[in-house]
Amino acid sequence: MTFDEYQKKALTTAMFSGNELLDLAHWALGITGESGEIAEKVKKIIRDSKSVVTNEAKTEIAKEIGDVLWYLAILSDHLGVSFETVAQNNLEKLKNRKAESKISGSGDNR
Ligand SMILES: [Mg+2]
Repeated sequence: MTFDEYQKKALTTAMFSGNELLDLAHWALGITGESGEIAEKVKKIIRDSKSVVTNEAKTEIAKEIGDVLWYLAILSDHLGVSFETVAQNNLEKLKNRKAESKISGSGDNR
């Protein structure tokens, strides 16, 4: 499955309010909420599992990654950008940073 194929399928389960700002907020908050769920599961590995990363924990974290992916796909579509393009542009950006030895550091457009 390509990123664009995933995005198209994800859109079949998206809900739209008819208010662009509310939809943007919904999806942006969804990304942060689901990312928080990943962090929470990692926290519980430290707190409850003596820092042992079990296969069950990995499976649960992978599910949350999928939830983040869904919101990213919907948001990208709303912005009129194919998910494939987002992925390709990100890899290209990172490749250029690596070539310029700027992988570490800060700033959005290094
Ligand atoms: Mg979730």
